[in-house]
Amino acid sequence: MTRPLPAGDFGAWLAELAAALRGEGDTDVACGSCVGCCSSSQFILIEADERDALAHIPSELLFPAPRMPKGNMLLGYDERGRCPMLSDHGCTIYAHRPRTCRTYDCRVFPAAGVYPDEPEKTLVAERARQWEFSYADDGDRALHDAVLAAARAIQLAESAPATPVAVRAARSVIERA
Ligand code: SF4
Repeated sequence: MTRPLPAGDFGAWLAELAAALRGEGDTDVACGSCVGCCSSSQFILIEADERDALAHIPSELLFPAPRMPKGNMLLGYDERGRCPMLSDHGCTIYAHRPRTCRTYDCRVFPAAGVYPDEPEKTLVAERARQWEFSYADDGDRALHDAVLAAARAIQLAESAPATPVAVRAARSVIERA
């Protein structure tokens, strides 16, 4: 059995995620040697205003994001599903990484009680299942219950992959807080 990992107090985590989604900071995930999300065949959106990230990614790796305003770009992945900016030693543009990467946090899955089941996201799901939140007080537990309930409501209303369900559930509680 894999070892649980401390995800931090739920309320503090949700506040950090809220700040990251507002563009007021980055998520602070204790990734260690995990590169689950960087090797899960994900297209990374880089918005037109992200000049620093765009300047650090070779233009031949970028292509226009479909159905989005001009200047929004996508970064693809290699034949192993890995981000082309990922080396054996980690992200080669970490200090300049796109907003998508700065706000990604796989703790959103245990927060919402849903986990990705796509084969290419196996590493993300494994890592996500290791996180264990702690609760500083009853308010923390109530916030977690609210995110779990929001995710269940979304799943009852529609069939959607775990990632949008989890992010929307967390966002809905953030917006009500
Ligand atoms: S899957 Fe989670 S722990 Fe692994 S690199 Fe991504 S954010 Fe970090």
